[in-house]
Amino acid sequence: MTFVYPMATCGNPAPAFKFERLPTNAEPTHYDVRLSPCLNQFSFEGLSTVDVTIKEATDVLKVHAQSLLIQSVSLITNPGDAAKKLDTTYDDKLNILSIKLPSVLQPQKVQLVFKFIGELNDKMRGFYRSQYKDKDGSEKFLASTQFESTYARLAFPCFDEPIYKATFDVTLEVDSHLTALSNMNVISETPSTDGKRKVVKFATTPKMSSYLVAFAVGELEYISTKTNSGVEMRVYTVPGKKEQGQYSLDLSAKCIDWYNEWFDIPYPLPKCDLIAIPDFSMGAMENWGLVTYREIALLVDPGVTSTRQKSRVALVVAHELAHLWFGNLVTMKWWTDLWLKEGFASFMEYMFVGANCPEFKIWLHFLNDELASGMGLDGLRNSHPIEVEIDNPNELDEIYDSITYAKSNSVNRMLCYYLSEPVFQKGLRIYLKKFQYSNAVTQDLWSALSEASGQNVNELMSGWTQQMGFPVLNVTQRQDGNNRVLTVEQRRFISDGGEDPKNSLWQVPITVSVGSAPSDVKARFLLKEKQQEFVVEGVAPGEWVKLNSGTTGFYRVEYSDEMLTAMLPDIASRKMPVLDRFGLINDLSALLNTGRVSIAQFVQVAASSANEDEYVVWGAIDEGMSKLLACSREMSEETLKSAKQLIVKMFEKTGADLGFAEQSGEDSQKMMLRALVQARLARAGHQPTIDKFNQMFTDFLEKGTPIHPDIRLATFGVVARSTGKEGFDKLMNLRETTAFQEIERQAMIAMSQTPEQPLLAQLFEYGFEKNKVRPQDQLYLFLGTGSTHMGQQYAWQYFCEHIKEFLEKYGGANSSLFQRCLKFAGESFGNEKRAVEFQDFFCNCKDLTDTDRQTLARPIGQTVEAIRLNARLLEANRSIIENLLKQSNL
Ligand SMILES: [Zn+2]
Repeated sequence: MTFVYPMATCGNPAPAFKFERLPTNAEPTHYDVRLSPCLNQFSFEGLSTVDVTIKEATDVLKVHAQSLLIQSVSLITNPGDAAKKLDTTYDDKLNILSIKLPSVLQPQKVQLVFKFIGELNDKMRGFYRSQYKDKDGSEKFLASTQFESTYARLAFPCFDEPIYKATFDVTLEVDSHLTALSNMNVISETPSTDGKRKVVKFATTPKMSSYLVAFAVGELEYISTKTNSGVEMRVYTVPGKKEQGQYSLDLSAKCIDWYNEWFDIPYPLPKCDLIAIPDFSMGAMENWGLVTYREIALLVDPGVTSTRQKSRVALVVAHELAHLWFGNLVTMKWWTDLWLKEGFASFMEYMFVGANCPEFKIWLHFLNDELASGMGLDGLRNSHPIEVEIDNPNELDEIYDSITYAKSNSVNRMLCYYLSEPVFQKGLRIYLKKFQYSNAVTQDLWSALSEASGQNVNELMSGWTQQMGFPVLNVTQRQDGNNRVLTVEQRRFISDGGEDPKNSLWQVPITVSVGSAPSDVKARFLLKEKQQEFVVEGVAPGEWVKLNSGTTGFYRVEYSDEMLTAMLPDIASRKMPVLDRFGLINDLSALLNTGRVSIAQFVQVAASSANEDEYVVWGAIDEGMSKLLACSREMSEETLKSAKQLIVKMFEKTGADLGFAEQSGEDSQKMMLRALVQARLARAGHQPTIDKFNQMFTDFLEKGTPIHPDIRLATFGVVARSTGKEGFDKLMNLRETTAFQEIERQAMIAMSQTPEQPLLAQLFEYGFEKNKVRPQDQLYLFLGTGSTHMGQQYAWQYFCEHIKEFLEKYGGANSSLFQRCLKFAGESFGNEKRAVEFQDFFCNCKDLTDTDRQTLARPIGQTVEAIRLNARLLEANRSIIENLLKQSNL
């Protein structure tokens, strides 16, 4: 995807590459695709026939193809006629194959026949291979697909843009002992004459976009069930893992039935397979009828999977299945409206899990994982609007980010609350019915919601989807008899606290709650101007007033001191609802970087939360405290020591009350809270806590005493940080011997936190150079390095020295895996010198082309901005931290 906010700092900008979409003179209506993959030679042969309707007279037809050896292209103008061989030319920048017709053809229906050979590549895109070990430890391969956004063209020539919907007949010829899967059910299976191969033919798909086609071939096993509506559901895995699919299987069957009812449109295919693929670049992919997942995103082992991971599995399963309606049935016209599928699948996943898996308390996690995450990225100057201008979809990967997912999702939630759920649902049903088997743009959705609600939804929402950023509301109050008069002013929230060059304004749905009835919405307003006054009737003097009840809005609130102080007692007593407590503390933590709230003020509010008992609220407190630690680390050893003492003082009692063991009757949040608090105490150097964690690890290894899955990562982290080579080797051994991906990943994240450089070097060599960590997971090696100066420096240097290998391994600068490594390698730095060094490196790096630099402009800009924010936080709080630590009687 392209960018609308380039960094523009590298000397000579590259000459603009002119991207072209396919011409609109022709469109496909049907594909007959036959592929014959060979898992030994990593290649496939293909033969496809495409029914094309020529709409305007032309002598050239254009289709996408990439990394395919095209052996021949032929034309059939009348059914039954002999095919005529045609000449072609190829544009490798646009991936467009131009087919020269024998003469100018008038509008008519023709067929194009392609014969080609392709590679089962190892780049996790197109038709690719994935490697795993069988139970005897021998290396095996399976082949599967990832076509979104522009990779169907790696498997067969096609009109590879979402607007070109067609039906597909797929045939796969494979070794006879392998399973072959595609979007639809098998209609025939014919053995070859020598019995070594078989030809598997699948039923015709509904009309759909090319990025949703899928195949999978390998030694697979499955479990199955049926939905109440009769759809066959299967979970496929490599051999030995099918039982781990039971949780997802049960949930997915329930989910299809639930969506059938919620959308009031039944799932139209006879089957839906969910398959766990060992190598997978995204989390999962919603291919119609054959949904592909990373193993970790689909498989659950009841005694081993952590609660967080299990809830993520539930969310990802529900997300992909929501796409069967949002995305597959109704598809965006162009990638600019990618959010139309991602924002709604993300919202529906919470709707389903919230209604069907109450044990996860998923809406609490929504606040941190979606709302706060979306605001985190959208607070940067290098953010982008939800509706983002996309020129070249080959540069699209960077847009699969927290704006397209988390912000879109949060904006949908705000709108759902504003219109009410029944009205919102009615609008979505209108939209889905009207555009089914077709394409839509954002405006179409607003029109449907306007029809359902009788309100002008376009006017309300366009500011949220077309403008970058979101507002912070500054609130002051005065009492007028029995009424409270609020003065509310909006401005764009920018994390560095600076001015918004565009003076953006939003229509902000405001809800108000008050101290006498904290769980109710006392009043509702719509802020349309820069500044407005609102009167809340029936509020006693001294009673607190809070905006954004239930933290349903995608905005932050900054209160006057008087208003904030009035709320503190009800935060302390937990009389204020948990969603509001989270919102308030998260806003304060974010305002730290703007310089409008000091770390001392934050610590004061955090201290009044000593009785807090909810995991997500503690998470928000913990995040603010980690900022204190990060600043202190940059100041001096002495300061860092004092800051740690302050944190021990604040967390110690809660840690002692919680202990380490699970208590009977606890809800799912308690063990996570325990892990969070104890891990923070350990990071702050609280020796009894460190000793306890190390003992748990020793007991686990020596006596087999299980570690609760929810405190496992915290335990591994303490071992890696506190026990040197001995603990590191044990973690490495555990990683090597476990068969479970979550444990592999956790051991790796923990090892990356080691404070010893030779061990970190060993880990990076193991993961990257010896390729012992799957490319999809290698970015986790960077994750823990930001917690020490040594780790920061090592990770950054490693990235610089190996950028060429990273580009090669992940398939270029457009790869989201590459871009995430880039960000992780730099974003924890905290001074201006580093910001400049980071930026200069990419300007001068010889391994990057000018096109790469264009592709990377936004991720680089975002990382430089994050480094500067860290520096700014420190400068704004240096003396405040010194005073705070002096006054804290440590
Ligand atoms: Zn999605």
